[in-house]
Amino acid sequence: MKVSIDKELCTGCELCVISCPDIFEMDGDVAKVINEIVPPGAEESVQQAVDDCPTTAIKVE
Ligand code: SF4
Repeated sequence: MKVSIDKELCTGCELCVISCPDIFEMDGDVAKVINEIVPPGAEESVQQAVDDCPTTAIKVE
């Protein structure tokens, strides 16, 4: 699984950073991906972050 964030959509609510601190961190007013290739053990929590993101800014492939 690969993950990315559309910074144009991110409002910086920090939900993803709180739920997956190994994958996302804040970069000023928006979140950024620090681990683009999601380890298998983190896929479930990243999928939850995708579902929880209020602006659908997180994409997985
Ligand atoms: S949950 Fe979505 S809107 Fe909130 S910081 Fe993460 S990417 Fe941005």
